[in-house]
Amino acid sequence: MNQYRGTSFWFDTLDEDIQARAPLSGPIDVDVAIIGAGYTGLWTAYYLKVLSPTTSIAILEAQTAGFGASGRNGGWLKGSMAGEDTYLAGQPAERREIGYALLHGIVDHVRDILIDEDIQCGFHKGGVLFAAARYPEQLALVRQHLERLREAGHGEDDYRWLDVQALDQQVRMHQPYGAIYSPHCAVVNPAELVRGLARAVERRGATIYENTRVDDIQDRVVVTGQGRVRAQWIVPALEGYAGSVRGGGGLVLPVQSQIIATEPLSAAQWDEVGLANRPAFSDGGRLITYGQRSADGRLIFGARGGYRFGVKPRNDFTLEGPESELRKKLMLELFPALSGVRVTHGWGGTMGMARRFVPHVVCDTRSGLATAGGYGGGGVGAANLFGRTLADLILGHGTALTQMPWVIQGSNPRRALRRWEPEPFPWLAYRAIQAAYNWEESLCSSATAAPWMKGLAGRISGVFARLMT
Ligand SMILES: Cc1cc2nc3c(=O)[nH]c(=O)nc-3n(C[C@H](O)[C@H](O)[C@H](O)COP(=O)(O)OP(=O)(O)OC[C@H]3O[C@@H](n4cnc5c(N)ncnc54)[C@H](O)[C@@H]3O)c2cc1C
Repeated sequence: MNQYRGTSFWFDTLDEDIQARAPLSGPIDVDVAIIGAGYTGLWTAYYLKVLSPTTSIAILEAQTAGFGASGRNGGWLKGSMAGEDTYLAGQPAERREIGYALLHGIVDHVRDILIDEDIQCGFHKGGVLFAAARYPEQLALVRQHLERLREAGHGEDDYRWLDVQALDQQVRMHQPYGAIYSPHCAVVNPAELVRGLARAVERRGATIYENTRVDDIQDRVVVTGQGRVRAQWIVPALEGYAGSVRGGGGLVLPVQSQIIATEPLSAAQWDEVGLANRPAFSDGGRLITYGQRSADGRLIFGARGGYRFGVKPRNDFTLEGPESELRKKLMLELFPALSGVRVTHGWGGTMGMARRFVPHVVCDTRSGLATAGGYGGGGVGAANLFGRTLADLILGHGTALTQMPWVIQGSNPRRALRRWEPEPFPWLAYRAIQAAYNWEESLCSSATAAPWMKGLAGRISGVFARLMT
């Protein structure tokens, strides 16, 4: 059996013999060396080749394309990103409008490239039902969120409220109170997307070296066990794995997210669940559960995650045991009609959290280092926008993309970003936040908990949520 097939349900669906490409076999010189063959690295290579076909590019990947979060995620391709309002709120109206248009435009932009490059990844734009409130306390928070979206200038065409009846037309969750609908989202098979993108990049002349782990980045040199790569520009595109390269850690913390897939559901079972137009969905809890109806008729359901002491990414997840059981339990709380359904896959992955929980693009012209990341659970779409941006920055093109407030340019711009505190602070903070959110959720879901306890738990969680921004 192929060693990579068990990476995720999505890898298991790949209609290819998943073999790693040849590794680097000695020293080379290129214009641009990209570290990591996930969406960030591959989109950057793609746009560099589109804009400047003669630019020589080497992509160095420790495993195989898509082995990281890009081949494991929930497949929401969003036209939005974490922290967009934080970034855009203080901007002049014109720049704010351009920023939101760029973000909302991601979905159709990617769709057009998928068509042009013949990348088959089950793209379906059914929008997203997000933040479905399941308790009165969540309803208040979700309503506040919609108000903030309105204040930021988003109209009914971007985000609209679905009351219980309208929501029921879309999805049959257990006792919902309403949700926000946005059309700016598609679902994809993420592994097909990242593997197809890798092939598109190769067709345009970039070289991907797999089984090639980068150990160190020096002055315009990337150091691997198989040879050194000299490059004018170096693009670490490592997200949750940034700490695996010497000196690369600090900006992004590796946090795990876990997910399951059911067996294909029957038409009668889908009648019980809804999701006929395949919108992505999530609930309104701070611990967020999310999912999609896959192209082959399974429910893909993600919830919760973890953090390993010592800033360590994690790749080993199994279907058996308490981790998958917890996701199944949470899925049944949302969709009790699926009680007899078999879960066939359980996996997880490592994503990157920036210190202020907002993603960034960084370009250091002095050292020739450019990077992007910190997407949290929102990199499928954002990495496309940021890959486009990195290509413009590297080629010296001043465009609307490079003027966005999430872009930090100049000499040593990494200084402008807040770094994570050393251990044990991230671990303690993670434990405290999880404990507060779990406590709040268990009280909210309890019919007997005293209202003052729910209020107290909500206030404590609210303080943590504010501290995280
Ligand atoms: C379970 C899960 C669900 C998610 N769901 C969603 C979702 O539905 N929608 C959404 O928008 N986002 C989601 N995300 C987040 C999203 O998947 C990521 O933000 C995105 O894939 C990041 O892409 P990337 O290319 O920056 O990083 P990655 O895809 O992680 O790529 C980094 C690459 O670097 C390689 N690498 C590591 N160390 C080295 C080294 N030393 N040398 C060379 N190569 C190295 C890795 O093997 C990997 O291929 C989810 C994440 C997870 C884990």
